[in-house]
Amino acid sequence: MSATNYVFAPPALPSLPVAGSSARFPVKRIFCVGRNYHAHALEMGKPVDKATMKPFYFTKSPSTLVESGATVPYPCGTSNYHYEMELVVAIGAHGFRLTEADAPRMIFGYAAGLDMTRRDLQLVAREQGRPWDLGKDFEKSAVCAPILPAGDLGVLTEGEITLQVNGEPKQSADLAQLIWNIPELLADLSQFYHLEPGDIIYTGTPEGVGPVRPGDRISGHIDRVGEVSLTIGQPE
Ligand code: MN
Repeated sequence: MSATNYVFAPPALPSLPVAGSSARFPVKRIFCVGRNYHAHALEMGKPVDKATMKPFYFTKSPSTLVESGATVPYPCGTSNYHYEMELVVAIGAHGFRLTEADAPRMIFGYAAGLDMTRRDLQLVAREQGRPWDLGKDFEKSAVCAPILPAGDLGVLTEGEITLQVNGEPKQSADLAQLIWNIPELLADLSQFYHLEPGDIIYTGTPEGVGPVRPGDRISGHIDRVGEVSLTIGQPE
């Protein structure tokens, strides 16, 4: 007998496949790092000086998750829908006020992800000093490939990260160019949140972000981590 008495069926728990397994990774929260590659910060008109600045974060609702390979409708409310290719770090342990040395025990695995963005709405919010939710935390905006258990990869410090649209190269960089690397991000983020198994972190995008249109096919690759793809459908 159930002890609960919901007024409607609760939504399914968002989750992602685990590569090479029939198991799934339940997703608790989605954190995203802003401006974590210098060339992307510059193209957004907001250069980063690591000596005087700290990383910053926004979140997406776990219900925004979409698995790699999906077709999503061109979203409502925008005429400037952008891709952002990112390394996703999946958290597998509890951690609060971590040091950088704690990073290895925190990482369950990695995935290739797309932080899809309504750029026009994000920039309006940014200029007005308002929250980014309309630009970032919208339906089907967090695209993620199956999570590859970290295993021998340990804490990733390098590896090519690329994105193509319809086969045309758009983004090409290396994880070594992250302004704040993975241990630094985990140490910093955990000053503000109790990290928990099921949290995933989009670590930021390199330069070359840009718009997509209905019919476009996005494909991304991260060396040793995997691939992510997305097809843009017609607007609803
Ligand atoms: Mn991003």
